[in-house]
Amino acid sequence: DVSIALFTSDLRLRDHPVLAGALRAARRVVPLFVVDSRLAAAGFAVPNRAAFLADCLADLDEALRERGGRLVVRRGDAVEETCRVAAETGAGEVHLAGGVSGFALRREERLRAALAADGRGLRVHDAVVTAVPPGAVLPTGRDHYAVFTPYFRRWSAEAPRPVIAAPRTVPVPPEVRSEPLPRAASLARGEPSPALPEGGERAGRRRLGAWLRTGVTGYADRHDDLPGDATSRLSPYLHFGCLSPVELVTRARRTAGAGAEAFVRQLAWRDFHHQLLAARPDAARHDYRTRHDHWREDAGELAAWREGRTGYPVVDAAMRQLAHEGWMHNRARLLSASFLTKTLYLDWRAGARHFLDLLVDGDVANNQLNWQWVAGTGSDTRPNRVLNPLAQAKRFDPTGEYVRRWVPELAELPGPAVHHPWRLRATERSRYAYPEPIVDLDDALARFRAARGID
Ligand code: FAD
Repeated sequence: DVSIALFTSDLRLRDHPVLAGALRAARRVVPLFVVDSRLAAAGFAVPNRAAFLADCLADLDEALRERGGRLVVRRGDAVEETCRVAAETGAGEVHLAGGVSGFALRREERLRAALAADGRGLRVHDAVVTAVPPGAVLPTGRDHYAVFTPYFRRWSAEAPRPVIAAPRTVPVPPEVRSEPLPRAASLARGEPSPALPEGGERAGRRRLGAWLRTGVTGYADRHDDLPGDATSRLSPYLHFGCLSPVELVTRARRTAGAGAEAFVRQLAWRDFHHQLLAARPDAARHDYRTRHDHWREDAGELAAWREGRTGYPVVDAAMRQLAHEGWMHNRARLLSASFLTKTLYLDWRAGARHFLDLLVDGDVANNQLNWQWVAGTGSDTRPNRVLNPLAQAKRFDPTGEYVRRWVPELAELPGPAVHHPWRLRATERSRYAYPEPIVDLDDALARFRAARGID
């Protein structure tokens, strides 16, 4: 008479097949979240995501209380704790969203075995974490799509499942024990970035509402505009599942115009990377495309990149935005990742690790596979293209406003001159406490071409 809805990357009540399934299966439901000790041990519990997660859990608990329920929180190994709650409540079934990372897949397998040993069942629900489930569209004879364009064509033809309304009531067995809601400091050690977004389904829905009303219209033209900051900033809400990707795609498709179309295409990129990781879990760590050259090693250059003092203002602006907001504009992610992997020729894994340490939306599928895409070890069909940081700066920050916002040492330099302080006369240059470029771009390009065997 009891079932468990195990919440993972799906911290919402609306359009939630897991909760809906658990409610259909039994009269009472335990909405369970386990603060997983294994995730912390794997280095995933970082202050920025911990702060956002604490908001999400508080918001979810409040929404459940409005429906006569509450969130049950446990700490420990997710599989062991779930089995313990099942034994305590006599739950017959556990409902869970299908994940894609190696971590999620192992958890699912262990949980299925542990529950079966007790005579209980596991129900895994699709289209919770992605709009189209991994494996739902496949090229002939292969287990995943390696190239985005054909994937997108097939993905676009899929009809999403209907959006599910939030339950009106969630009856929770009264006796089930819960730990207090975790605070950020108890989830990860260290200080979060100063300007993080507020987590939770409600905050996500406010942002989504505003985005569909006004923001999305100009998206096709403005998504690459660095100072304009004209993207949705919905990624943290998608990462934690405060918003449903199925609902987003459905609602965006109902919004006419090139902006909404371009936005849906980006949501497809998210699904693309998820289906790739689901088929190749080791792509989180190993090159997806075989390469025969070696990355350089230079701890000093890596530190300069991380700390935003490479001497290339647009790269430094990007890295400082990341440190301050736990978020970075997509164009800034592209150019700073290209700088690390192609200009400095340092290992993409070091860059991906730094991003995962800070990004609130930090996500194994999207982060690792976008890094591989940029590094030319992944699914990019033009793996040897190199983004020139100066050309990128002039094109996507033509007035220099983005750089002046994040690199205050250069704030007095007017217009696009802010992009190349090294061109100033020596006397003027000395007025700015800003480093010289750590590498010459022509030398770097020659080094890259030699490493990749390009004539
Ligand atoms: P919008 O432009 O409003 O796009 C809407 C949504 O589409 C995003 O929220 C996101 O869910 C999805 N999306 C957009 N672009 C991509 C993309 N290239 N790949 C996958 N999904 C996409 N995104 C993450 O969610 N987590 C990460 O850890 C992450 N790491 C990245 C690392 C690198 C090196 C690069 C180049 C990109 C990375 N991205 C990552 C993708 C992208 O930069 C962010 O999703 C986007 O900047 C988030 O801002 P937004 O919500 O305003 O995006």
